Order: sequence, then C-alpha cells, then structure tokens
Amino acid sequence: MAEVTSLATGRSAALSDQIAAVIPGGVDSPFRSFQEVGGYTLFLSKAEGAYVFDVDGNRYIDFLGAWGPAILGHCPKPVVAACQQAIASGPVFGAPCTLELNMAQALIAAYPVVEKVRFVNSGTEAVMSAVRLARGYTGRDLIVIFEGCYHGHSDSVLASRDHSASAGVPQSVADNTVRVPYNDSPALAKLLAELGQQIAAVLIEPVAGSMGVVPPEAGYLEQVRGLCTKHECLLIMDEVLTGLRLARGGAYELYGVQPDLACFGKALGGGMPIGAYGGPAEIMNALQPVGQVYQAGTFSGNPVTMAGGIETLKLLSEEGVYEHLEARAAQLFDGLRPVIAELSFPVQLQRVGSMFAILFAPHPVRNYQDSLQIDNQRYAKFFHGLLSRGIYMPPSAVDAACVSRAHSREDVDTMIDVCSAVLRAL
Ligand SMILES: *Cc1c(COP(=O)(O)O)cnc(C)c1O
Repeated sequence: MAEVTSLATGRSAALSDQIAAVIPGGVDSPFRSFQEVGGYTLFLSKAEGAYVFDVDGNRYIDFLGAWGPAILGHCPKPVVAACQQAIASGPVFGAPCTLELNMAQALIAAYPVVEKVRFVNSGTEAVMSAVRLARGYTGRDLIVIFEGCYHGHSDSVLASRDHSASAGVPQSVADNTVRVPYNDSPALAKLLAELGQQIAAVLIEPVAGSMGVVPPEAGYLEQVRGLCTKHECLLIMDEVLTGLRLARGGAYELYGVQPDLACFGKALGGGMPIGAYGGPAEIMNALQPVGQVYQAGTFSGNPVTMAGGIETLKLLSEEGVYEHLEARAAQLFDGLRPVIAELSFPVQLQRVGSMFAILFAPHPVRNYQDSLQIDNQRYAKFFHGLLSRGIYMPPSAVDAACVSRAHSREDVDTMIDVCSAVLRAL
C-alpha cells in the first residue's frame, strides 16, 4: 500500500506567483493551468523516460506525456542525438533539406492514405490548413465538427453556428461551421441531407481525446465515411493525438476507415514542435505552388523537427512497441477494476490503446452530453491525491492520460497502488 506522502513544492508555488505577473494565468496554453483542479501549477525542470521532475526536486511517474508527444517516454536517446546533430548543422534553412524528404517518406510508409504531406509546426496549423485545403479543393464553405471534439485553436474549429468556445471569433466565421453530436450517425445523416451540397469537409477525432477518451461506437466511423462519400464532402481525420499512438498508422490502421485527409502532430515530432497533414496527391496538389490554396511556414519542415520525427518513426517500428503500450495500459485498468468495484461512487475506466481516462461519472461517456455528468470536484481531489504521492496526471478530468514506451511494469504497479489508496480515501 502506498504511503500517504505530501511532497514539498514551495519553489513551484513561489514561481507560480511570479509567472502569473508576466504571462496571463501563468501559462502559455490554458489547459496547463490548474484552474479546474485548484492549487498552483508545478514548474518542471527535467523529464526522462517515464518520469518528470519539478524544481523542488520531486520525481513523478508521468501519465500526462506532455499531452501526447511523449509516446516513447521523455528524451529517448536516439531522438535526442538526432536532434542535437541536426541543430549543430543549422536549425532552420528556409529551403528543402534531405531530412524533410526522408521524414515525408517515413510518414507515407506508416500511413498509406497519405500520398503527399505538408509539415507544419503544430496540430492547430495542421487542422487549420487541412480545412482551408478542403474548402479550396471542393469550392464549398461549410465544415462539420462534433460536440466535444478538440481540433486546436483556429477560428473555424473554435466556434460553430450554435456554440463558441472563445470570444473573438466573428459570427461570420462561426456561421460556416456546423456542429453535431458525436457517435450519432443519424444526426450527421440529417445534417448532410439538408446541407450536403455546401459542406466541404467533416472533421472528426476518430477517438475523442478531450471528453474522456471516447471511442467511436461499432460501425460509427464507417457510417461517417459512407455519408461523406455519398455527399461528396471530404472526411478529415484529426489524428493529432491518435496518430502513431493507437498504431503506427493511427486510428486509420486500428479501425480500417480511410479518411480523405489526415492531420498529425504531438507524437510525430519526438518532442519537437510539429504538425502535418496529408492525403491523396490529387487533393494535396491543390496547394500552392501547384494549385491555388495557400499555406506556408518559416519553421515548417525544419531539420531539427524532421530529425526527431524520423528517429521516432524508426523507434515505433521496432518489435513489440505497441504490444508494450497495450500491455501496460491493460495492466493499469485490470489492477484498478477490483478496487473500483468496492467503491461507493461510480468510476468509468475508458481507454483505447495507450490513451486512457479515469472518470467519476455514473455511466460510460459516449458523447459530450455524457461528459457533462463527470464529477470534476472528485477528480480534483483524486488528481491532488496522486500528485502529492508522486504521480502526474492531466489537470483536467476529461483529457486523455497517456502510457508510454518507457513505463515499466513496476511504474504501473506503483500507479495502481497509489490510485487504490487515493480512491479508497475519496
Ligand atoms: C492537441 C490537439 C490539437 C492541437 O494541436 P496543437 O499542437 O496543440 O496545436 C488538435 N487536434 C487534436 C485531436 C489534439 O489532440
């Protein structure tokens, strides 16, 4: 049984105060803040393998995984070495480089729907560019998104006709995005029957990673694919989180449903900032300078990121990687199930491969409406219980936690022990 410990985090507390004076909320990305769980954010100073370390010298077993990139664990040696070599040869050229060619070939080999690819610098850019490409290619303006899916912070995906996740998006932009419930193909069928002729693309997370790791129900992705084909709109799969994580070929490989365009990010760069989008040559050739759709980037395809990505794809093709991810994630849930069965409150264990969520909800979460029933206050207590015992989880109930290649059986055993103790005390 894990002992109840409380780690000293005084330096983080002091730095949290200082940073809030110079960076809004003390974070460069709002979901990093501990707003939902309370308390001050930890300042991390180092990450290695399955662990992160804070400025007070505490070590945590890390299940945040940097929100997705750390699929191999932190700082895998071959990735670090390749990036160091690339940076020493010049971190940015503003001209094509061999690493870019090799990275494109490696991604195409891993994800055969992609015949041509463009590299950008974030998942946001990848989705934003894929949406523009879809609009330019089809000559249609509307896009469809799903309640509770996250696609980064470009205007078109932050707000829709009926909902806005941000101030500052003009209504005229939001009017071109239509939102329907996830895991509900009749709702999509109805919408496409009405507006199909105007819809450029249906944009979907094949597994929803920001409303509690919600898998697509049996047949759902196939139905979405069928509807897109019927109405001649493009299916864009946002594989920014699932790409490389669920399989080398992402959700496409796992579920066998073929998108027209796929977006990547997170794990693809081995820790370096990256995004990518790709598809058939016929669609991708609508991009300038071949076609008419503009997309660019000073740092796009830079050698350091490309070197990190190539090494990552290489390491992910080694024997046993995905078996390891599956085994460690299964070990965790198998270990938690008997504990959860004894509790007086309901807990839902949701996972697809190495993406998982521990949800304090009455029923399994299958869409955004269900996710609203999650008890965030209980999660806040759970989160801090874990954190004070050396386990780092996402500071938000609904966001996917991640198992990495670096987690050992012992790390997961420790996680099970700590979770069990904290859950029983809730
Ligand atoms: C994280 C994420 C994005 C945005 O990627 P950034 O690199 O943070 O811009 C887009 N889509 C999905 C599914 C994501 O998980």
